[in-house]
Amino acid sequence: MSLGTGTLYVVATPIGNLGDMSDRARQVLTTVALIAAEDTRTTRPLLTHFGITTALLAYHEHNEAAATTRVLALLASGEDVALVADAGTPLISDPGYSLVTAARAKGLAVVPVPGANAAICALSAAGLPSDRFLFLGFPPRTSSQRRTWFAAVAHEPGTLIVYESTKRMLATLADVSAVLGERQVVLARELTKRFETFWSGQPTELQTRLAAAPEQQRGELVILIAGCPVAAATVVTAEAQRTLEVLAQAVPLRQAVALTVQLTGAKKNALYQLGLELGLGAEVD
Ligand code: SAM
Repeated sequence: MSLGTGTLYVVATPIGNLGDMSDRARQVLTTVALIAAEDTRTTRPLLTHFGITTALLAYHEHNEAAATTRVLALLASGEDVALVADAGTPLISDPGYSLVTAARAKGLAVVPVPGANAAICALSAAGLPSDRFLFLGFPPRTSSQRRTWFAAVAHEPGTLIVYESTKRMLATLADVSAVLGERQVVLARELTKRFETFWSGQPTELQTRLAAAPEQQRGELVILIAGCPVAAATVVTAEAQRTLEVLAQAVPLRQAVALTVQLTGAKKNALYQLGLELGLGAEVD
């Protein structure tokens, strides 16, 4: 950081419960010259609630370049600026990446002010392994793209964390079941809010329970999926994978899998899963 320049504070705000606003976040938002906010209509009521009158600047994906230039100029002139998202931690499935990167590239100070984050909040209370996890953000919106997306992490041993709209939760659970199988899943809904729920079960069972509970298909949702059992993750040897890769250049995936099973004795389902993950299989005319 060069002398005389301002600091960019990356400030987390609550994800539903205003009691989760930290004293430090309030103090920083009160004292900076400007708050760059994802949606000023969402942030203004939050600031008003806490008696904060700092000026706001819209910072979202459609004006990112112009807003970044303005914030960098302010920082360069010695003013401090805060970045906030609509809720939770900026940059985590929210805008801010290019601003933070640009500020760092200019040698400016970037200081996090931590607080709520839906993914970590859900993981901390879901009861799934938390020693290793993979945050995936939002899945694609179509089923075929989602299936490819899940197939790419089928062998990940850590807990998978996904943000999803409650409107698509049933369809996404169907894809989890089809691609990852009947693993333990936790639906963490309306975190920190009045109707917070944690539902745990296998995807098919959860789909049945949800179909009978429309109120559970509203609000905000984090889906946590148990990682791949270690035995399944290591079932395909390097030799079997290489064989599959070579064969799949010549024949469709199903045939390549069948031949690899004969040649190496590897498990058919694991090979097929791996083939999908790697996007293998010759095109069929
Ligand atoms: N930056 C935010 C964070 O730190 O968690 C996430 C922003 S992302 C645009 C919004 C998604 O986060 C929602 O669609 C939902 O998947 C998840 N989310 C946010 N608040 C939540 C809550 N109170 N309960 C459950 N999920 C929540």
